[in-house]
Amino acid sequence: MSRLFLFLAALAAVIGMGAALRAVRSGATRGTEPRIGARGPDVVATTSFIADLARNVGGERVRVTALMGPGVDPHLFKASEGDVTRLGEADLTLYGGLHLEGRMSEVLERLSERGVPCVAVTSGVPPGRLIRSGPGGTPDPHVWHDVSLWMEAARTVRDALSRVDPAGADGYATRCEAYLAELARLDAEARDRLRAVPRERRVLVTAHDAFAYFGRAYDVEVRGIQGISTVAEAGVRDIREVADLIARRRIPAIFVESSVSPRVIESLQAAVQARGFEVAIGEALLSDALGDPGTQEGTYVGMIRHNVAAILRGLRPGGEDP
Ligand SMILES: [Zn+2]
Repeated sequence: MSRLFLFLAALAAVIGMGAALRAVRSGATRGTEPRIGARGPDVVATTSFIADLARNVGGERVRVTALMGPGVDPHLFKASEGDVTRLGEADLTLYGGLHLEGRMSEVLERLSERGVPCVAVTSGVPPGRLIRSGPGGTPDPHVWHDVSLWMEAARTVRDALSRVDPAGADGYATRCEAYLAELARLDAEARDRLRAVPRERRVLVTAHDAFAYFGRAYDVEVRGIQGISTVAEAGVRDIREVADLIARRRIPAIFVESSVSPRVIESLQAAVQARGFEVAIGEALLSDALGDPGTQEGTYVGMIRHNVAAILRGLRPGGEDP
């Protein structure tokens, strides 16, 4: 019964992927004639925070759609046939790259082959500033949690928009400069605020390893228990080791993420309790998706501010003095 189910599920996945790729192939290869007039370009972004970046740099001249809504996990996201059609009709596709959208790489490749400009917003990050892990030195895709690296992404988006829409280039340059200034202030603010947590307790424990760049940028020790992608499950040994560390250093809170199941963090909390220490579960951090549109957490700047504030409240309970 379960084998039959697995077989059918696999078959459905293969058929789904085939249909998605056919939708890409069926479109003719684009000519090189300029398609964008005074109306400005249509941009499709994979994630909500990339869409937010495109809106900030593009302003009213661009129409931006995000494929993934609030709470959607980009590591597991598969493009539907409708998504692929939307991507195929865009003047520019913006994606994270570094295998963030692990299940979309074939679709993105096909789009490039068809002449739809596809740009990885992380392509301008200097290779020396990427964090690598594992035997193959796989780069960690979560660069947006270091605001200074997201500033590189803003420049990449400015250049990509200017290439597909040269008539709008001056506007993109002006808006990008203003946004870069805002991001520079945000970067300094995050660093200053987190210094209030004593170094011994400045440890961020989360379900999946999304905060390595955040930790490096803002001097926070980071322990994820699920690896860089959410595809792999946390092992019992990982949970035991992190539980030991939390109990030993009396770290007051651990954190869940809006796009990842809280199950792993709940079992970690139980393991810490079994060691005679009470650890709280802090507010949900936004790791791989923004919050709802219209809320503070619905923008990139708001997401970073929310995470910093949630970490401060969790690790400095009762507003203790540093
Ligand atoms: Zn992630």
